[in-house]
Amino acid sequence: QKLDRRPAGVKGANRDGMEIKKSDDFGEWFSQLVTKTEMIEFYDVSGCYILRPWSFAMWETIREYFDAEIKKLGVQNAYFPLFVSKKRLTTEEDHIEGFAAEVAWVTKSGKKDLEEPIAVRPTSETIMYPAYSKWIRSYRDLPLKLNQWSNVVRWEFKYPTPFIRSREFLWQEGHTAFATKEEADVEVLQILNLYRSVYEDLLAVPVIRGRKSDKEKFAGGLYTTTIEGFIPTNGRAIQAATSHCLGQNFSRMFKIEYEIGDNKKQFVWQNSWGLTTRSIGVMAMVHSDDKGLVLPPRIAPIQVVVVPILRKGMEKMVRDAAEELEQELQKDGIRVKADLRDDKNPGWKFNYWELKGVPLRLELGPRDIEGGSVMATKRVDGEKSMFERAKVCETVKTTLESIHKSTFEKARIARDEKIVRVDKWADFVPALDKRTMVLAPWCEQTPCEEDVKDRSGEESQQRLGEEGEVDKKALSGSAKTLCIPFEEELSRLGVEKIGEDAKCFACAEKATAYTLWGRSY
Ligand code: AMP
Repeated sequence: QKLDRRPAGVKGANRDGMEIKKSDDFGEWFSQLVTKTEMIEFYDVSGCYILRPWSFAMWETIREYFDAEIKKLGVQNAYFPLFVSKKRLTTEEDHIEGFAAEVAWVTKSGKKDLEEPIAVRPTSETIMYPAYSKWIRSYRDLPLKLNQWSNVVRWEFKYPTPFIRSREFLWQEGHTAFATKEEADVEVLQILNLYRSVYEDLLAVPVIRGRKSDKEKFAGGLYTTTIEGFIPTNGRAIQAATSHCLGQNFSRMFKIEYEIGDNKKQFVWQNSWGLTTRSIGVMAMVHSDDKGLVLPPRIAPIQVVVVPILRKGMEKMVRDAAEELEQELQKDGIRVKADLRDDKNPGWKFNYWELKGVPLRLELGPRDIEGGSVMATKRVDGEKSMFERAKVCETVKTTLESIHKSTFEKARIARDEKIVRVDKWADFVPALDKRTMVLAPWCEQTPCEEDVKDRSGEESQQRLGEEGEVDKKALSGSAKTLCIPFEEELSRLGVEKIGEDAKCFACAEKATAYTLWGRSY
């Protein structure tokens, strides 16, 4: 009675385990991963998914961590309505232009048409800011820093993927208002660094911080900063979270002003920032393997599983010892579960918890108990070691810490290997076809970016047609700018400051910044 990994269709396979390799068909592998590990249940509205307890617990951990951090910055939580009137949604022109195609509208109640359709929030700038305009009168009302944990709906056209691109998703959205641009600028980066911390310190996923190009920035905002993740298996980049400076565009439209004396008023400077359940999907894609999920310890709902190895006549003794171990670890703040089910054998349990991604397994049999030891196995690399029973709490804690570090390092190295420097167009698409992100000197001009998008799409198509030229499973499709990495990120990657005479890789005009390009989700 083993949890079966035999491919579908093979006689006797019970199909509980993963049936496909990550490198064989990444999309199908991910779909199996999220369902077989009980993170997701599919739903009959396309792009909407049920988050089961195993993934929702991860969201709760992210939420607890981030919520505590923003409260240290003086942010308070509030809740604003789900619906927005057409008049308000369309107040800021660039904003609505950016979102119009994805807005879901309610047009009926029962059988009756509504007098005026109302929209479901795709984001809440236009819902919150009319209230901000009432609440902010003088500099004493500033800064105003609110956040809400909620769901939004974006009727995406691109193919939906659980967590990564869903039509309804959970997020937090922070909306702040300041007297000066300087204060707003500072907060944009504070939040971006917290996002980096969620990804790197909780999820063990490396990200690159940078600024979005004008074309890719938030609709209606002044500038957007981003952290960019990367999935080495398929070479796709992914926008992991964004922190926007909205400037005074929205405050002008919604009349959010404060008095500065002499009957004069000044528009406030605003930021908005969001992190979504996408983060869980990126984490799962980056770390997991052919056996299932690999969870970094800080995000794992269960960090340690204790499996008793029963021997005839000694069942009670072993079971009691397992429970005792569980309680001891639990008291020490470790998220632990003793799997005492008596209808499953140890082999089945090993496979089950491997599939679920639990970082550390402890086995306890009569011989271990007698010898004062516990057998430990790490999910990430299968490495086994003997822990001394008397020091088990300490050893488990240091092991979990080292698992976090090595998981992150492994992911960072895999990511860094996939960043390549390109200086001329001829090398661009061939580099992308090797599932990379490309760092190239760029002119920062929108027409050039649009041109790169078109040309890279066409060239990919051509290359796909040329027999033997490319790995057919490598990605096809057009590339876009991911971000203009911050200087400290570039120097970590060993890239010098852009030279005075550097030329844009795509149009040969003057290059102003090293920019990260890629095919993305
Ligand atoms: P935005 O307010 O548009 O900057 O979105 C905030 C963040 O939401 C982005 O940085 C993405 O990481 C994430 N995001 C955008 N669209 C989706 C989606 N359809 N599903 C899940 N997360 C998303």
